[in-house]
Amino acid sequence: MKAAIYQGPKQMTIEEIKRPSIGPDQILVQVKASGVCGTDVKTYIRGHRFFEPPCILGHEFAGVVAEVGSEVTDYSPGDRVAVAPYVPCGFCHMCQAGHFELCYDKSGVESGAFTEYIAIPKEVIERGTVRLPTGMSFSAGAMAEPLACVLNGIEDCRLELGDTLLIMGAGPMGLLSAQAALAQGAGKVIISEFNQERLAKAAEIGAIAVDPRKEDLKEVLKRETGGKLAQAVMVCVGFAEAVEEAQQYVAPGGVINMFGGLPKDSKVTIDPGLIHYQQVSLVGSFGFTHIQYRRAVELMANKRIDAERIITHTLPLEEAEKGINLSVEQKALKVMLVNEG
Ligand SMILES: [Zn+2]
Ligand SMILES: [Zn+2]
Repeated sequence: MKAAIYQGPKQMTIEEIKRPSIGPDQILVQVKASGVCGTDVKTYIRGHRFFEPPCILGHEFAGVVAEVGSEVTDYSPGDRVAVAPYVPCGFCHMCQAGHFELCYDKSGVESGAFTEYIAIPKEVIERGTVRLPTGMSFSAGAMAEPLACVLNGIEDCRLELGDTLLIMGAGPMGLLSAQAALAQGAGKVIISEFNQERLAKAAEIGAIAVDPRKEDLKEVLKRETGGKLAQAVMVCVGFAEAVEEAQQYVAPGGVINMFGGLPKDSKVTIDPGLIHYQQVSLVGSFGFTHIQYRRAVELMANKRIDAERIITHTLPLEEAEKGINLSVEQKALKVMLVNEG
């Protein structure tokens, strides 16, 4: 089978590798669509401690069950599925406290998704595999993972019905967050972004799109909220200055969510008065739970969220490197790699 192999920063090759064999309690999934994620892009550009080359990147995928182990009764070849790249153990201290995304003992799929077949272990079959409803595409299925991360982030923003959310950055995650917040009853979603195509997409989704070079973001917020500012600010870009800036946009009692990861050794200056006197919470969100993953599929199946509208490029697996570069150059929002075979 073919696989896109990450060989180190800015190096990727397409190779023929052995198709994985499965154990009696596993299934083999033929990958039909896999999304290029910010993590894949960062790894490709500067390396990542979790991904030692050579390895296969990609963790957002959906496909068809190609083989089932002799002990598997829930799935048959031909079933269309979305598969979470990891699931929590259910037993560790974090899981017992309900913090599944912080599980100490996650189990995951055995390889990245930029390939043709992946072996799915028992735990991921049980807790992280979801049948795609009729009519739902593989590309939508592959969006379940980033959408699940977004649901996790939105939960941590603690929005009430009608609240205003400010999203800094209209990349794929910012735009998905806007859709999720609107679907669950946010009053207004305001997105700040410099890239004009991304701003246009934000407006199309129903957000108030602001280019802060052209308009004073704080003035827009005041105008749109009657002076109240945003109940939550979701920082969907990866630099410390944005977190610092976010502090002037949040309402008292509100939440700033560091949703985008910052480079290691970043420093952020926080106004202690804002945290103490204004009771603002600074939180972070990373990853997702198996519950949010299932909910993401449901939200797309019920047409509450159309995650596919942020896919700008669909490319064959062989063009994985091109897809990553399109993301690096911000020419693409979401790139979907597909296997036609
Ligand atoms: Zn991802
Ligand atoms: Zn656990």
